[in-house]
Amino acid sequence: MLRLTVVVPAYNEAAVLETFHARLSDVLDVLPLEGRALYVDDGSADSTWDIIASLAARDARVEALKLSRNFGKEAAMTAGLDEADGDAVVVIDADLQDPPELIPALVEQWRAGYDVVYATRSARAGETGFKRFTSAAFYRTMEKLSDTPVPRDTGDFRLLSRRALDALRQLRERQRFMKGLFAWIGYRQTAVRYERDPRHAGRTKWNYWRLTQLAMEGITSFSTAPLRLATWTGLSASLLAFVYGLWVLTKALLYGDPVRGYPTLMLVILFLGGVQLLALGVIGEYLGRNYAESKQRPLYFVEERRSAGGR
Ligand code: UDP
Ligand code: MG
Repeated sequence: MLRLTVVVPAYNEAAVLETFHARLSDVLDVLPLEGRALYVDDGSADSTWDIIASLAARDARVEALKLSRNFGKEAAMTAGLDEADGDAVVVIDADLQDPPELIPALVEQWRAGYDVVYATRSARAGETGFKRFTSAAFYRTMEKLSDTPVPRDTGDFRLLSRRALDALRQLRERQRFMKGLFAWIGYRQTAVRYERDPRHAGRTKWNYWRLTQLAMEGITSFSTAPLRLATWTGLSASLLAFVYGLWVLTKALLYGDPVRGYPTLMLVILFLGGVQLLALGVIGEYLGRNYAESKQRPLYFVEERRSAGGR
């Protein structure tokens, strides 16, 4: 029988874990697969680990992993994905914002041949208008700047096939923006829509500061556009300086200048400013290449191979 591992990162989720597991178990019971749950305690300060440990003692389908401290959700997910050994994995939040009841729909798409099945939320209950606005702005920026578009309104709730998981595991970069990495590996991807519920209990671990950091991480690990900024401002500044300088010079030559030294001073300042920005831009370009290299991402993944023999 095919095996499915459900990876659940949990940080201070004592208030919801029992309810979560009850709902997940009901789903695992009816799945036509051998379903397992892998809980990753991301260095919680409350009784999360005790609950996970007791679940593992009670239920043979539960595996538990405890990180040595709080490393953040991206790292907790990575730990779970590294540990998971199924024919497919599902990543799901512990707070019941991602309904476990959607897992059969994800599995169905996987059986239909998709490698990455992500759950796209059509409603965001319990979130403020401001959060919706900032999140929309973020996705729009990512679409513009990055060459691996991150699907909109998609959290980390998704299913990965074995080969997608193997591909993802080869991405060992330190700065991990998982939503981007999931998209980057390619293969056949599809979406399943659902209504996102408000958090069942407990509090969100994200505040605007952490969300801003995550957004910066997304933009800087999937695009070197910010580094290019210096090149373009440098180029336009130099160009403007050149035109303006010519004008100041001609004016000074034709009519003389009432303020002595002004034309030369202006020329020198504008010229040097432009050149400095340009030089920074050049450094930025090399830095961008260096950055891409240092991520050590694989160059490609092969999805399929055919030969005359037709195997
Ligand atoms: N989480 C984690 N480590 C952290 C923060 C969050 O493992 O440092 C887990 C958390 O327990 C939950 C999921 O990541 O299962 C999503 O977190 P949360 O609900 O706080 O985020 P939101 O849904 O508000 O974006
Ligand atoms: Mg949540």
